[in-house]
Amino acid sequence: MAQATKETPMMKQYQAVKDQYPDAFLFYRLGDFYELFNDDAIKGSQLLELTLTQRNKNSQTPIPMCGVPHHAVQNYIDILIDQGYKVAVCEQMEDPKLAKGMVKREVTRLVTPGTQMDMSGEQAKDNNYLTALVIEDQSYALAYTDLSTGELKTSVLDNRDSLINEMINLRTKEVVVDDTLEDSLLNFFNEQGILISHQGETVQSSEVSYLTQDLDSSSEVKVVSLLVTYLTVTQKRSLAHLQRAVAYEPSYFLKMDHYSKYNLELTNNIRSGKKQGTLLWLLDETKTAMGGRLLKQWLDRPLLDRKSIEGRQDKVQELLDHYFERSNLQDELTKVYDLERLAGRVAYGSVNGRDLIQLKTSLQQIPKVRYILESLNSPVFDELMKQLDPLEDIVGLLDQSIAEEPPISVTDGGVIKDHYNDRLDEYRDAMKNGKQWIAKLEAQERQNTGINNLKIGFNHVFGYYIEVTKANLDKLPDDRYERKQTLTNAERFSTPELKEKETLILEAQDKSTALEYQLFADVRDQVKESIDRLQRLAKRVAELDVLQSFAVVSETYHFIRPTYTKSHDLEITEGRHPVVEKFMGHQEYVPNDVSMNPKTNILLITGPNMSGKSTYMRQLALTVIMSQMGCFVPAKKAKMPIFDQIFTRIGAADDLISGQSTFMVEMQEANNALVHASENSLILFDEIGRGTATYDGMALAQAIIEFVHNRVHAKTLFSTHYHELTVLEDTLAELKNVHVGAVEKNGELVFLHKVEDGAADQSYGIHVAKLAGMPETLLKRANEILTGLESRAASLDNQQVHHVESQAENVSREIDLEKSDEDPKGKTEASQLALFDPVDVDPNVDQVLDQLKRLNLMSMTPMDVMNKMYEWQQKLQ
Ligand code: ADP
Repeated sequence: MAQATKETPMMKQYQAVKDQYPDAFLFYRLGDFYELFNDDAIKGSQLLELTLTQRNKNSQTPIPMCGVPHHAVQNYIDILIDQGYKVAVCEQMEDPKLAKGMVKREVTRLVTPGTQMDMSGEQAKDNNYLTALVIEDQSYALAYTDLSTGELKTSVLDNRDSLINEMINLRTKEVVVDDTLEDSLLNFFNEQGILISHQGETVQSSEVSYLTQDLDSSSEVKVVSLLVTYLTVTQKRSLAHLQRAVAYEPSYFLKMDHYSKYNLELTNNIRSGKKQGTLLWLLDETKTAMGGRLLKQWLDRPLLDRKSIEGRQDKVQELLDHYFERSNLQDELTKVYDLERLAGRVAYGSVNGRDLIQLKTSLQQIPKVRYILESLNSPVFDELMKQLDPLEDIVGLLDQSIAEEPPISVTDGGVIKDHYNDRLDEYRDAMKNGKQWIAKLEAQERQNTGINNLKIGFNHVFGYYIEVTKANLDKLPDDRYERKQTLTNAERFSTPELKEKETLILEAQDKSTALEYQLFADVRDQVKESIDRLQRLAKRVAELDVLQSFAVVSETYHFIRPTYTKSHDLEITEGRHPVVEKFMGHQEYVPNDVSMNPKTNILLITGPNMSGKSTYMRQLALTVIMSQMGCFVPAKKAKMPIFDQIFTRIGAADDLISGQSTFMVEMQEANNALVHASENSLILFDEIGRGTATYDGMALAQAIIEFVHNRVHAKTLFSTHYHELTVLEDTLAELKNVHVGAVEKNGELVFLHKVEDGAADQSYGIHVAKLAGMPETLLKRANEILTGLESRAASLDNQQVHHVESQAENVSREIDLEKSDEDPKGKTEASQLALFDPVDVDPNVDQVLDQLKRLNLMSMTPMDVMNKMYEWQQKLQ
């Protein structure tokens, strides 16, 4: 990319630096500006809306250039980082006034999307994860860190799906790779907007050895080393706050693939992408940024271990039972700043006086928090309380050393308290006394000379001076006065005494700011020694914050503590969907029971559109997730097993509309469940098969149900608009029909949102058509056809039973049809034909009925309905 630059020494220097950072925007410091040149300038001026100018305008090869003022640089950097770019910041390393020849410049930091540290506002509750990835022995070793908190984790995943799941869950913006990664994976990251950073070699430093010392697997060591090397190369500062890498095993947690998390709207609203309207939004009553981040992590990884789940719930119960203590606790937590990120800034050296005061204030709350927990007098908090280290030594140090209201800058003085350091006190004394002394001198001089308007002043060029107006000059008695400066109306003088004090005062000022900075840096370094303790404390505070948040929401929304069974029984009495309920109000929401056991693994849910089928299914999934996070659940009573995985195929309204290869996604999601679910899993299938032609879809839906029934035995909720499937209850022992009720009231269909046993009344389609005002003749005809279809269906029942039984017996044969010697394929097709053989009626009728069934009345105007009617009448005549 190097362009012909008729190189001046400066452009030569620029180019040499740029060559080291070809994939980053280079912000090159020139006086009060950071300049971008060449391609960086052309692209940067567009992205940052800057005016593109030229350097050496009149030469044959002018250089494109644009710049940003140094004081506003962070805003511009943030814009580029948010868009997934890297920025290298190149500073002047010496004072241009003092430099001989070219000013020395160096890149002092490389900012990348995964290493961005300054999070504010809502973002403070988000982690920003940088990940690294290597492939070894056909497994994927993954490591990730949040540079602002120092968290460092690693895991080995044995298949690509799990890897992609983890990557999407982490919402990583940047991945560091070596050359072991396959192109298809890199392409996938590209498509996902994840920035790929190549790190050629790994450096084995003492830092890397320290960070990896708890890891057993070589590939984990390798990937953490890669990550740390990248950080060392790019950050060029202390990484002392990185915590020793912890290996984790995704199978220790309730597994949910990213489709499921997305569909269940755990952290992001499907429509807006925002937090509002999600489970996270509902559960988040945390008071600290650390708590907010931990809540999100718990939501991402609900637990499997009953003891740990109950451990959390015991604490929630205590906090729930003690309203006053809880609200005191909240008050104290509100005063705790982001300890994790403060620790990060201490290590980075970017902490200032105000940060240290925030740290002190936060730590000062800890004894109060402990006191509150003690007053609960409950053993469940013993362990947590023990770990709430108040870091009294650090509080003492900060309290003695750092001024209560320090300035932002750490180099201009005013940061250190009086009486912390004798030398500093002396300087300060000299400055203070010096000023008094000067005031005294002024009074004396006036008296001695009799010049009443004589004054002593100060300016940066001439220092202290005695100013006498021209009119009074002749009153100056002797030659002690040495002329310094002549003004229009006055003369300025110095005297030996004034000079002496001046030196003392100015020196004291200079030395005191330098000394203050030194003292500040010492304090910072002492705090840095305690980073481990700070980070441990931050974790405990975060945990306590999440637990109190659970207690608050449990009280506000009337959640109850679930109990657990080993027997695969699931009994939820009056369960609710917490988010839908919050939106519509407790009174409006109709609670529903869910009852399943080893003999009822599948609930087949029928009911008209918009009756609440999908809400019912989601509410069970959310209940399970909340319970395994250690929270209480929205129900009157809940007894359930601990699930190992949740799978969902729940169509979002808009993907039905956009039709973006929805059917393929539907099948992929369904397949994922069928392949990976166990008998301890929960599967939610909403309207499976809807995305294809009716018979095709119905056949698939039935086959899927049978597969789950015969092979998987997972707890499954299956909603369908294929009423025909309800006959499966007769043949599949573990399947039970339930339906969501609706009644007609004053000419309108009223959804009761109540889930009851048995199949839905199948005539709802025609019923809805009637409500829409369709012509009587058409409705009559539709009823006739329906009766015909039903009686035909009844006569086909035997064949169907036979079909089901043969399928149940031959499931495994069906799976590898090709391998079989007989021709089971032919047989299967034959039986499916028997099941779905259309009734012998006019094909037009069939078509009309089919269309009628699928009609989305909610989205039609009366005119649309009229037109459709007309079209059908034409067809039927
Ligand atoms: P379906 O899946 O049957 O088409 P949904 O589950 O999407 O229906 O529910 C449609 C709407 O009905 C929801 O948006 C909600 O407003 C309302 N609803 C669902 N379940 C309930 C309930 N139990 N109580 C009150 N309103 C409900």
